[in-house]
Amino acid sequence: MMGRSSPQPAVSLLDPVGQYERLRPEIDARIATVLGHGRFVNGPEVAELETALAARSGAKHVVAVANGTDALNIALRAERIGPGDAVFVPAFSFVATGGAVALNGATPIFVDINPRTFVMDPAVLADTIRHVRSAGNLVPRAVMPVDLFGLPADYGRLEPLCREEGLFLLVDGAQSFGASQQGRRVGAFGDATITSFFPSKPLGAWGDGGAMFTDDRERMERWRVVCAHGTSGDPYDAQRIGTNSRLDTLQAAVLLAKLPGYQEEIARRNAIADAYTEALCDLAETPVVPDGNVSVWAQYSLLVDRRDAIRAALAERGIPTRVYYPRTLPAQAAFRGSAGLGLPCPVAEDITTRVVNLPMHSELDDSMVARVVTALRDVLRHGPGTQR
Ligand SMILES: *Cc1c(COP(=O)(O)O)cnc(C)c1O
Repeated sequence: MMGRSSPQPAVSLLDPVGQYERLRPEIDARIATVLGHGRFVNGPEVAELETALAARSGAKHVVAVANGTDALNIALRAERIGPGDAVFVPAFSFVATGGAVALNGATPIFVDINPRTFVMDPAVLADTIRHVRSAGNLVPRAVMPVDLFGLPADYGRLEPLCREEGLFLLVDGAQSFGASQQGRRVGAFGDATITSFFPSKPLGAWGDGGAMFTDDRERMERWRVVCAHGTSGDPYDAQRIGTNSRLDTLQAAVLLAKLPGYQEEIARRNAIADAYTEALCDLAETPVVPDGNVSVWAQYSLLVDRRDAIRAALAERGIPTRVYYPRTLPAQAAFRGSAGLGLPCPVAEDITTRVVNLPMHSELDDSMVARVVTALRDVLRHGPGTQR
């Protein structure tokens, strides 16, 4: 960079403080209300948020919980999925996707992904289900697709397949709240959906948070029992083994303050993604959003060769990047026991070696996006070794 011209604000991977400054009056007012009534657990904001999330997603019932990982665990536990059961999950995801299955005693069976969209490949899923059924050791119970990077998985094919196979379809929508497919919104696919409000997710709280969505009232009631130590009504008479998982009232208040502007933030993320794709598609593999889908762009990813050198050259130019994810789930030691029980996942393996994630959040302004694009074009065209 040249001379001492006016200092430009840094391009960051996330800007929660910038977002707070933009939304300060709403957030401060919501928090002041909670501090005033003092119901920090199960305060009225939690139910208000559940109602608002139901309206936004089209799901009939929403239960707010402590985080997305709990949501996955509770959803599996409430279906009594456990030892001897197979749950099909994509090989390329955050660790919690496979961890929740294993923590319940069930066996995660890894399924390869589509090379253009990075979500579970339904044809490979069908082959993998056949493979597990013919091996005969495990009972296929559930499919848990992930809406990776904010793009809904291929529900047009996954829903009929799960119905035919009699499998519970649990959507890991931790990264995709607000996204849609053929006009249907995340929260309304499959039998149940979970999401996460971890600060780096598209709709982030100021700490941990999560939510669960279903149209089935009895399922929702089971979730509430599991979340409340297995009790309903009398808190000292447990009906089953449960846990403690609640969204803090303060987190609900923050989310309620953010929710009215969330649609605009999704539009901003889409504008940034469009700008990246238009500027970079001739130099790298850019992400594909199939017709009829709206992504919330939890991440924007490129596929590149010589990734490490490119990341280093971008860092020198003030552009931070991340790698989601540097290895597949079956390549991690924790999943060694079940890695060989499905089919090989060569697409996921390949993507882990080439994926790089660019800055993507609602607070990036046009000049920041332009700086990212300029640096990337420079690095991709002339090679990571050459500085202008
Ligand atoms: C973040 C994430 C989770 C877990 O959510 P937490 O709220 O962090 O527990 C689960 N699955 C996927 C795909 C995620 O990205």
